[in-house]
Amino acid sequence: MAKNSKPHCSFCGRPKNEVNMLLSGFEAHICDACISQGFEVIKEELPTANTSKCSKKYQFDLVKPKDLKVHLDQYVIGQDEAKKHLSVAVYNHYKRLMQPQQADDVKIEKSNILMVGETGTGKTYLARTLAQRLQVPFCIADATVITEAGYVGEDVETILTRLLQAANYDVEKAECGIVFIDEIDKIARKSDNPSITRDVSGEGVQQALLKLLEGSIVNVPPQGGRKHPDQKMIAVNTENILFICGGAFDGIDRHIAKRLNSRPIGFSGDDMFHDSFEKDQIMKYVTAQDLKSFGLIPELLGRLPVITYLNPLDAKALLSILTEPKNALIKQYEKLFTMEGVQLKFEPKALEYMVAQAMEYKLGARGLRSIMEAIMTDAMFEIPSKENVKAFTVDLAYAKEKFEKTVFHQMKVVA
Ligand code: ADP
Repeated sequence: MAKNSKPHCSFCGRPKNEVNMLLSGFEAHICDACISQGFEVIKEELPTANTSKCSKKYQFDLVKPKDLKVHLDQYVIGQDEAKKHLSVAVYNHYKRLMQPQQADDVKIEKSNILMVGETGTGKTYLARTLAQRLQVPFCIADATVITEAGYVGEDVETILTRLLQAANYDVEKAECGIVFIDEIDKIARKSDNPSITRDVSGEGVQQALLKLLEGSIVNVPPQGGRKHPDQKMIAVNTENILFICGGAFDGIDRHIAKRLNSRPIGFSGDDMFHDSFEKDQIMKYVTAQDLKSFGLIPELLGRLPVITYLNPLDAKALLSILTEPKNALIKQYEKLFTMEGVQLKFEPKALEYMVAQAMEYKLGARGLRSIMEAIMTDAMFEIPSKENVKAFTVDLAYAKEKFEKTVFHQMKVVA
């Protein structure tokens, strides 16, 4: 090191202005991130230095899998298989965190989760509801905006920026949080042939995600993005962060069908399974092998050991979503009207009409809200100014009249 060079960490080489703290020793310096990393090594190597993985400050109220599912059932309709897998994986994850670790202990590995299911079937909602029950920081990241470092887009580390923000920049708290990475299917490898052009938003991102998912110390820009090049990085250990990935994996049913048909048990005919099973039935056979042929790299799949699927929502499920969950849409509108002193009622036929529209426009559960809003806006505009209205009923004729005036419907008529 030249005597007159600017002070920098003798381990990672980062200059003083890029780190939080730089400690000086005899002719050498060390930054805070390298100290944390060193501490992790000492903890692994020296049994006496081992402590519980999460600090005492964040001991969790361990909720048993069955109780977690009961909680999920209050908010999310159906998707029993996914709820069961999630409940078990989350329970094991937090059990693992609360276990004081000794050097000779069996090391329980992380159980990150991959959820496969059409858009609007409740993947994000499930993850969010879980995080609320566990009272841990939670954030949602979109895999499509991430690119390999150095290319236009966001670096993979910015995913953790959101988690830090959700934890109010309490690093220890963030290190026990849950991250939901949406649209993971959109970063599937574009093709099996290595080409001259780099796949910076596909395989490159999968590679970059590996280090987050497996558990390592990552330097996170607290403000996110690349707009603040001189911000000081915060070192976050991802070892105890639970990653839940979700994606629609459009067309994966073909991969599943192909695999099932190629089993050497005497099946013949190319699309036998595909023909005889509906798409939603075939989805329950999804395995890592199918996700690999869809374009996820084996290393990434290896870090997502729990794979589960969500069923597409049929009319019955959509009707239940409108009425049954603890904060069902109907209940929310009823509450809004009650605050106005008005009793709101929906006739069953009107509800069925809304569901039929959501099915027809292929909007799923997400569309129910906009359909409801389209139907209710006029009433919500007029009623607060009317003093003598004490009750209001939405029947089929009213729902139809309001919905037919909307852009949705008009677009359909024009088409
Ligand atoms: P995804 O992540 O699968 O694309 P979301 O979880 O974002 O879908 O779902 C969108 C919205 O639809 C949720 O906020 C929730 O209100 C509603 N929703 C979706 N699926 C369900 C379900 N199974 N039960 C209750 N509500 C649901």
